[in-house]
Amino acid sequence: MSVFNQFRFSYDDPSKLGIELTDHDPQKKDYENLKSLMMNSVKITEDIFPEIYKSIEKVIKKLNVGNHFNFFITSDHSQANASCMSTPRSGSAEIIFTSKLIELLNIKELEFVIAHEISHYYFKHANYPLPENAKNRVEFLNYLGFSRFAEISSDRIGFLGTDEINIALKAMFKLMTGLGDQHINFNINAYLDQFREVKDMKITSDNLATHPSFFIRMQALIWFSMTHEYQDYINNNKKGTYRLDEIDQKIYESLNQTSGLERDNLNKDIYNRCLKWGSLKIFLNDKSFSKEEQKIFEKNFGLKDMEKIKSLLKISNPEQIEKKISGILKEGSALMHSDKNKLINEFKNIINHYAEEKDKSELISYFKNSLNI
Ligand SMILES: [Zn+2]
Repeated sequence: MSVFNQFRFSYDDPSKLGIELTDHDPQKKDYENLKSLMMNSVKITEDIFPEIYKSIEKVIKKLNVGNHFNFFITSDHSQANASCMSTPRSGSAEIIFTSKLIELLNIKELEFVIAHEISHYYFKHANYPLPENAKNRVEFLNYLGFSRFAEISSDRIGFLGTDEINIALKAMFKLMTGLGDQHINFNINAYLDQFREVKDMKITSDNLATHPSFFIRMQALIWFSMTHEYQDYINNNKKGTYRLDEIDQKIYESLNQTSGLERDNLNKDIYNRCLKWGSLKIFLNDKSFSKEEQKIFEKNFGLKDMEKIKSLLKISNPEQIEKKISGILKEGSALMHSDKNKLINEFKNIINHYAEEKDKSELISYFKNSLNI
């Protein structure tokens, strides 16, 4: 297994989104992108930027990836930024640093950013759906979650590019503050204390940035450096303190604590509503809501919901109920792929017990269509 797959943040798993990422095609190149960069930015070559060029070669060798990249520096003194541009199947990518970034970081710190950007290409993060293209709030929050998971994966590869935790952390700190060496007395513990204070403030509203806070990213990287898996990878005699899967869970919780509460709640809420109204659909399929079915419904969703449904059935005609159910399942189509599969399995279970034999397959395909699976 490559180091990329070995250390990818386990929540950064595009199959949970239900998307399949096509492979890069070495023959396919995006010349449009390249052309416009050639006109407006300076390409990093051995002649013009020998030191940076050497670092790039070093990182590529260290990560054991082919050189599919063109590196550029673009004139921008306002933001210390790096980005990786590639079209979905393209066999190459353009990695762009702003001039401010180059001036801010020393050559070792730059290696962190080089490896981080290379990994975005390798992980095909550019192919993830964009939050701004989401069709509703829950899909927006799910896409946003993924853009953050992606950064956690890429920070790990960035770290492998430098091999020194303090260099990686300092690079992140400089990118966050925009401050250079002359201003920083780098004390990571003092900085993380600030993070603890933020956590104690119990923020419940969502922070909607596509990148997770640098606090969390730095903490996530420190934890990663303490895993058995990482220590084993660098052949250190130290055994490490944590297992990688333990750390992934801690990071996920940390991301949720400060910025993912709404996403989690909304997903759960929609999931439960789909389950409730989908069950009703199955129970009503034979045009009756029998005493036994009512008992099961009450057991699963409580007496209060049971009574609400009963009074709704009294005042509504079947078309209205049908419309309500299909509206709720349509909302459910924005859930994560893994949640949708879980719902289908729950429905199958109920269908097996309560639907008539002749209706079973039709009901299952109704749910699959409604949830867009
Ligand atoms: Zn990134």
